[in-house]
Amino acid sequence: MDSVINVSKLEQDSSRCNLGHACSFCPQEMTCKRDKPRHNKELLEKRLENFGMVLLVMANKGGVGKSTVAANLSVALSQLGYQVGLADADIHGPNAPRIFGLQDERVKVKAEGIETPFYEMPASKKSLQLGSLAFLLPESNTPIVWRDAYKHDYIHHMIGSFNWGALDFLVVDMPPGTGNELITLSDLLETSNVRVVLVSSADAIALQDSLKASRFCEERGLPVLGLVENFAGTTCPHCKEEFELFPRSKEIENFEKAGISTLTRLPFSSLIAEGAESGQPAADNKESAIGHIFEQLAFECRKAAIEDNRCALSEELTNLFDVNDDLAELDVEQQRQVEQLIDTEKQKLQRLKPKVPEHD
Ligand code: SF4
Repeated sequence: MDSVINVSKLEQDSSRCNLGHACSFCPQEMTCKRDKPRHNKELLEKRLENFGMVLLVMANKGGVGKSTVAANLSVALSQLGYQVGLADADIHGPNAPRIFGLQDERVKVKAEGIETPFYEMPASKKSLQLGSLAFLLPESNTPIVWRDAYKHDYIHHMIGSFNWGALDFLVVDMPPGTGNELITLSDLLETSNVRVVLVSSADAIALQDSLKASRFCEERGLPVLGLVENFAGTTCPHCKEEFELFPRSKEIENFEKAGISTLTRLPFSSLIAEGAESGQPAADNKESAIGHIFEQLAFECRKAAIEDNRCALSEELTNLFDVNDDLAELDVEQQRQVEQLIDTEKQKLQRLKPKVPEHD
């Protein structure tokens, strides 16, 4: 048996593969002698290095508007001048393309990776990239009946095999639940800059489910940026009086106790529903009340990204040098490393700098 393993190792091609997709998409998979597990691992690492921050939009409970929040937040971040990708992690209900009117798009696997169609915003002319399982299905209504192993592979492909390029923010529209997809993704993102945006309606059942998701995040070390309270009140179209759709449950106090603050209270608005129906998310209209709410949410994400970059720099500097080292006594090589780190940091912060002024 030993000799068989040795022969196989000798036959293995040690050259690296520059293809931007996993081996399972490769026509050469059966004949290729390269180290395939290494290629798949390096592919994921390269993609993750190219993301400034990953924002997981999650709810645990279905039907609370997580996909529309993820889509509109992506639009608002793009309008701030950032490179944004929206990854649809919902395997059984990949609806992100529909919200952007791209449900009929089908993509090809190219040398650089699986194509990620662009959505161009009619009002602002900004654009963002989308990656979704829906783009790979024969038809929009094809059901997915997969066991967990396939779901695990899809989450790897969603990060590694889609051609994302360099992104300031990758927004992930998570499926309901704290199962396989979330576990796989949190394993992959262990060393990335991540923030979780929780979405819930104001009723006790939805809040309880979101609280469970926040406990998952705590256990897995995923920092929660805050809670979006969705369907939080609406305005009567006749008398214009505002009223609550759901009684605001006392469960909200448990979020405060867990240190999770409400980022915004998003009203039930026909504009959001119409935007999702027409394939043109409402946040593209920056002058509207909805556009303004999502702009504020995007500012919160930017603040977190800047903060994470600063923390990452100080951690890297701490890893390089003993805290007691006198910076004036660094040798030439150490000085070069410090300058390089600060330079990289400056470039990242420059990209995150407000391109659009923040206002109240
Ligand atoms: S099988 Fe994998 S390692 Fe080999 S050429 Fe294809 S993608 Fe590259």
